[in-house]
Amino acid sequence: MRALWSAEIIAVGSELLTPTRIDTNSLAITDTLNRLGIDVRAKAIVGDRRGDLAAVFRGALARADLVVLCGGLGPTDDDLTRDVVADVLERPLHEDAAITETIRARFARRNLTMPDLNRRQAMVPDGGSVLANVNGTAPGLWIEHADQVVMLLPGPPRELGPMLEGDVRQRLLTRVSGEGLFTRVVRIFGRSESHTEEAVRPFYAPWAAGSPAIEVTILAARGAIDLHLTVRARDQAFASAVLDPAVRQAAAALGDDVYSDTGRAIEQVTGDLLRERGWHLAAAESCTGGLLLSRLTDVPGSSDYVACGIVSYSNQSKVELLGVDPALIDAHGAVSEPVAQAMAAGIRARGGADVGIAITGIAGPGGGTETKPVGTVAIALDTPAGALVRTRRMPGGRDLIREMAVHAALDTLRRLLTGRQVP
Ligand code: AMP
Ligand code: MG
Repeated sequence: MRALWSAEIIAVGSELLTPTRIDTNSLAITDTLNRLGIDVRAKAIVGDRRGDLAAVFRGALARADLVVLCGGLGPTDDDLTRDVVADVLERPLHEDAAITETIRARFARRNLTMPDLNRRQAMVPDGGSVLANVNGTAPGLWIEHADQVVMLLPGPPRELGPMLEGDVRQRLLTRVSGEGLFTRVVRIFGRSESHTEEAVRPFYAPWAAGSPAIEVTILAARGAIDLHLTVRARDQAFASAVLDPAVRQAAAALGDDVYSDTGRAIEQVTGDLLRERGWHLAAAESCTGGLLLSRLTDVPGSSDYVACGIVSYSNQSKVELLGVDPALIDAHGAVSEPVAQAMAAGIRARGGADVGIAITGIAGPGGGTETKPVGTVAIALDTPAGALVRTRRMPGGRDLIREMAVHAALDTLRRLLTGRQVP
């Protein structure tokens, strides 16, 4: 039997074509496939229409070793995946009595009788076999079609997840080359995508010429840059032997702008640095409205270093809650370095913390001026190692400005805690 190298994923469901729903299953599927060394070459989203699904499925079959369809395995009329696959592969459906019994038993456990409709979920194209579903009625299906494999997986993510880690992985293990794709993520803040590329481009040729070759992707997402280095290797140890030196080269070229060479989030990296110092942080946030503390406390165990925070939006609250001198606000404006510094010192003292961090800025869309356009953000730190303040110009709209302000504040603190220059 030929090994499976390439895959295409088809997410089925009209709701996935609306502006309010998003296909997340294909990401989980891709992760499972990549770890087994199967390359995902294309993905599609198709509504619940027979003709459209048949056409997209035929296209995928013409290209990929493995075609994964997910969704549309329910018992109702709009669930067409099983029927369409059976049609296209010319494998008639038959009822699998064992599946019917499993579904019946599932209903019985909840003191219910199985509706006749659910027998649809027991229909299997000839030659197909079952992938167990521990969290739902519809089993997945595995169909070997000449050298190719077609998989049908359930749509609900809580059913899909265990199936991917269970039967799907077990089945695929028998059909892969024995090599997986391994990726290291280097995370960068403080330089643009093109400046990142400039720094690492000299390595592209030697990396590509290595064995195994290292594939490079640069991703700019919400103001931060991720550099992905990927190799195909038989195990993690072998992959690391190739990736570690490459990651070191990249990190050296990118210098202080690298905040993680293992794909960690800035709030984890900075949080760990605070923990190492035994320092507690208090935050005074204006334009970010609590986002900084939200990000920091997303990390389990952050109570080791987070003390408290105040969302201080109005000038009055800056004065009354943080002890900012109103004369400073009058003289420099609420978005200014002196006010940010006073906010950081105020929250540090009043919060009984080691580190005071403050953000005040203009997130827009209104409120910008000639000298302080929308996106102007002042970030201040007040710590036992000294105080510092910087003014940044964040790009984008309100959401991105706020997100970037948080990232920049956490990154500034990282630099301070590791004794790096803060530009
Ligand atoms: P279905 O298997 O088509 O009956 O889908 C059942 C439910 O699973 C849908 O209502 C969606 O909420 C969810 N679902 C289906 N496909 C996806 C997908 N690709 N990504 C995330 N959720 C999905
Ligand atoms: Mg559906």
